[in-house]
Amino acid sequence: MRDDTYWDKSAETLSRNGIEKLQTGLLTSSLERAAKSKFYAERFKDIGFDAESVSGLADLGLIPFTEKKDLRLSYPYGLLCEPKDRLLRMHISSGTTGQAVAVFYTKADLELWADLVARCMYMAGARPEDTFQNLSGYGLFTGGLGFQYGAERLGMLTIPAGPGNSRRQVQMMRDFSTNVIHIIPSFLLRLMDVMKEMGVDPKKELSLRLAFVGAEPYSEEVRRRLEDFYGVKVYNSYGLSEMNGPGVAFECPYQTGMHIWEDAYIAEIIDPNTLKPVPDGQYGELVMTTLKREAMPILRYRTRDLTRILPGECGCGRVHKRIDRIRGRTDDMFIIKGVNIFPIQVEQVLMSVPEVGNNYQIVLTRENNVDDMIVRVEVTDRVFVEDMRVLERIRKKITYEMKNELLVTPKVDLVEPNSLPGTEGKALRLIDQRAV
Ligand code: AMP
Ligand code: ZN
Repeated sequence: MRDDTYWDKSAETLSRNGIEKLQTGLLTSSLERAAKSKFYAERFKDIGFDAESVSGLADLGLIPFTEKKDLRLSYPYGLLCEPKDRLLRMHISSGTTGQAVAVFYTKADLELWADLVARCMYMAGARPEDTFQNLSGYGLFTGGLGFQYGAERLGMLTIPAGPGNSRRQVQMMRDFSTNVIHIIPSFLLRLMDVMKEMGVDPKKELSLRLAFVGAEPYSEEVRRRLEDFYGVKVYNSYGLSEMNGPGVAFECPYQTGMHIWEDAYIAEIIDPNTLKPVPDGQYGELVMTTLKREAMPILRYRTRDLTRILPGECGCGRVHKRIDRIRGRTDDMFIIKGVNIFPIQVEQVLMSVPEVGNNYQIVLTRENNVDDMIVRVEVTDRVFVEDMRVLERIRKKITYEMKNELLVTPKVDLVEPNSLPGTEGKALRLIDQRAV
């Protein structure tokens, strides 16, 4: 049921009570389905877990966690719950290390996924009369096809541009008056430089209105930069292949966190050390359970993403829980001189300095048992041609701000615009050269 505000009014306006009732019913059937897979059948047997002992959400804690390594070890078909003739598609999660994780979809899974992505975009204000350019990788990565089918479901004219080809992207945006885009933050930052080189002022020459940005962490400072330069509203989009891909959590126009669609997923936040749930408002690891997936239900999946549930109600009226911007992944955190740091904290400092350009890298080194953090950062064109004294002043300013914020003094290396490597996929921000 669609109206001006809601893509799926009955799902989006569920009450808390309604959500819990729905989740209870769906959880039971998801458990039954999961038990048909080789992986869960064995896991349940090993730990003596009886799926029938779960009669409601209060029993959620009885269900064992599923970890990335479980999915890796079960590659390729260990978690499958449906015969192969019912499958339509697979994707692979973009992890850079170790054995890949394959995810499978039935027809109903693909339909539900497209519907959730359409719901997200509609919530943020995309409408059938819009033109949508998807600058995300097509293929195994879920950001391409996931948004493609979501946008088609919504009814937008959809340009499956894919990543890269920066100049051509800008040309297409101009030729087809693209007003809605989906893109990863590092690529949208890079396009700023490309547009500057091309002499294109997006506010004057392009029609961009909405940018759905996600798939990798980025800070509020980056959001502000992007909004100022492009004259768009940036909406944060969160998803992961294990939970379909995009369409898991998304910002509404109030932009106070991302609503997780609780009619399709159960979200919990746990302390990654004690594995116990933490109260709303407290940071921890996001744990997710699929409620409707047929081909590959996943129970209490430890995402490794650190966030928190924002307490209180959203002004938009949707009661689906909201998660805060992802702070990073547990495996992205590094320790230097005894201090725990996430790359996003470095980004926050850098991006609040106007002379800093759009690309940076953090390199960790170890010499004579002493660890160092080197921050390589591009400066803007305007600054680079200035004299050494200006550069030195900027370097000192960044070093000082970093020390203030992070309590660690990095070595700051200012480099020319566009000199750091760019990637078509998710950016590689951290290079740890410390031998272990
Ligand atoms: P993949 O399954 O390869 O698409 O990767 C999913 C992962 O990308 C998530 O587990 C997060 O670590 C990261 N990710 C996705 N969306 C966001 C976002 N909006 N902010 C921060 N990280 C994100
Ligand atoms: Zn809201």
